[in-house]
Amino acid sequence: MVTDLMPFYDKKLTCPYCGQSFTTKKIRSHFSAPYKTDPDFCPHYKDNLYNSLYYHVSVCPSCGFAFNSEFSKDFTSSAKYMIQKNIAEKWKSRDFGKLRDVNTAIETFKLAIYSASLKEERHFVLGGLCLRLAWIYRQENQPEDEQRFLKLAVKEYDASYLYSDFVNSWSPLRHLYMLGELNRQIGEYKQAISYFSKIVNDPDRNRDRLILNRTREQWSLATEEYRNQNPDDNPQ
Ligand SMILES: [Zn+2]
Repeated sequence: MVTDLMPFYDKKLTCPYCGQSFTTKKIRSHFSAPYKTDPDFCPHYKDNLYNSLYYHVSVCPSCGFAFNSEFSKDFTSSAKYMIQKNIAEKWKSRDFGKLRDVNTAIETFKLAIYSASLKEERHFVLGGLCLRLAWIYRQENQPEDEQRFLKLAVKEYDASYLYSDFVNSWSPLRHLYMLGELNRQIGEYKQAISYFSKIVNDPDRNRDRLILNRTREQWSLATEEYRNQNPDDNPQ
């Protein structure tokens, strides 16, 4: 079909907060294949015109509630009240459903992080939004903002581990790996090594060979980085 040759399409959505229907742009996956992926799965694109991260968040043009596909449909009455007061009543109608540049994409992530916080979404969902925003800053070569959102992602993924609220989204091994790798990236090498060692000692470790292999690589990198910083100390 001719339409399959077009990189963008309009996806029809219903706002989970106010119930209004609207459309938002998405990119067909074969146009948004990354040319490389980092150890934390951050994609890199030759042309950011086709950066699918830019279209990860949907923003309701009627009320301003911003969300991704991982948000639950349930709202507590206090969450409804908070969203009404802090987002919907202050919202000046704006349409994020068109093509987005990097600055517009960053705005949508900040709106989604705010919406998720007021909604008291799962820590896993908040962590994922912070991580993807950190990735956009990495693609833009803005290490300070990247680190700021990586640290927030670690905080949320830590809480997600504590409350096991990641279980319907990915495996415990993958969650431990992300905690290990993200702690390594923010310079928390001992934490990183402690998470990596949990994977290697897990009886289910062979179920995910990709994660196990990456764990070995990133564990040895974390150990090396720790030794460079603390030449007289042994991390384990
Ligand atoms: Zn809405």
